[in-house]
Amino acid sequence: MAGSEKSSLTKPRWLLAELTYACPLQCPYCSNPLDYARLGDELSTEEWRRVLSEARALGAVQLGLSGGEPLTRRDLAEIVTHARQLGYYTNLITSGYGLDEVRIAELKSAGLDHIQVSIQSPEKLLNDELAGTESFEHKLEVARWVKQHGYPMVLCVVIHRQNIHQMQQILEMADELGADYLELANTQYYGWALLNRDHLLPTREQFAEAEAIAQSYKEKVKGRMKIYYVVPDYYEDRPKACMNGWGTTFLTIAPDGMALPCHAARELPGLNCPSVRDFSIREIWYESAAFNRFRNYGWMKEPCRSCPEKEKDFGGCRCQAYLMTGDMADADPVCSKSPHHHRVLEAIASTQRSASDKPLFFRNARNSRALTG
Ligand code: SF4
Ligand code: SF4
Repeated sequence: MAGSEKSSLTKPRWLLAELTYACPLQCPYCSNPLDYARLGDELSTEEWRRVLSEARALGAVQLGLSGGEPLTRRDLAEIVTHARQLGYYTNLITSGYGLDEVRIAELKSAGLDHIQVSIQSPEKLLNDELAGTESFEHKLEVARWVKQHGYPMVLCVVIHRQNIHQMQQILEMADELGADYLELANTQYYGWALLNRDHLLPTREQFAEAEAIAQSYKEKVKGRMKIYYVVPDYYEDRPKACMNGWGTTFLTIAPDGMALPCHAARELPGLNCPSVRDFSIREIWYESAAFNRFRNYGWMKEPCRSCPEKEKDFGGCRCQAYLMTGDMADADPVCSKSPHHHRVLEAIASTQRSASDKPLFFRNARNSRALTG
């Protein structure tokens, strides 16, 4: 790549370290790849130390430690210690399953800044059903410990048709737990969630009702709890600026060392994402074909190429384009200007009609079965 082009590139600011695909839970909307069990060996502690050092040297300042369930890594505190020494702001993204007070204290003394705990539902039965593990009471306990140990309390609930009717209870649960932040993340339809979309995509009316409840609760808890409502893009007519623009801000490293411009990019055929086992982070960020593939605007097809809005949304999500049209250079079909927008409308229409009679596929090998809703 020419020097001038290289110097015009931004640096990665966010590093998402997916430490493992192992997880004792089995959410049917999990963002891990469908074939995660067949992927290669996890990076060692030493390899993670090198990745963190190189990304920090390049400019990364925020570090997310996720998975799978990152707590299954016995070397988690060691990785946090190294990140702290490098000056990262560190965020553990966890289901809370397997976390106890001893481990919370250990992570605190390693320098962890932030813990985000996810809960599937404010109701034990549904939480345990979706998680596939009796975990509800423990998650509540973990949320309280997180607060007691002086972390900001961040609760995350993934929203879909099975729990969207519980929006009021979700908000009340977060408030009772003393959450400082509540992230209400409407499901993004990739991987397991796409497989289960007929069960998970709420109707337009359900979205509207849930959003109104969340917005009015925002007022009630102003100054006490911040609520982030991640808008569901199927019900928008313009896509999100996915990853803030491909290869501009975010760098994800998968458990086997594959470097991804977005955590779902493994789904894209022929992208040949590089591995940190073969290349340095600097080479990956600046030189790799995968990271350069959708930078800037030269790759765009119509209608994006001549669209005045392309600098706002960069044509949307490449993974969503590929999964719904078969061409990763297409406009994200969420966009009403896309010739494939009817596919989103059809998915919505099928959701309005009835519940699916297909089984719900859980992430781990468990008997799949139909849920109502
Ligand atoms: S979404 Fe659920 S199954 Fe997937 S990694 Fe997170 S807790 Fe585990
Ligand atoms: S046509 Fe492309 S660039 Fe224009 S708004 Fe739609 S997705 Fe964005």
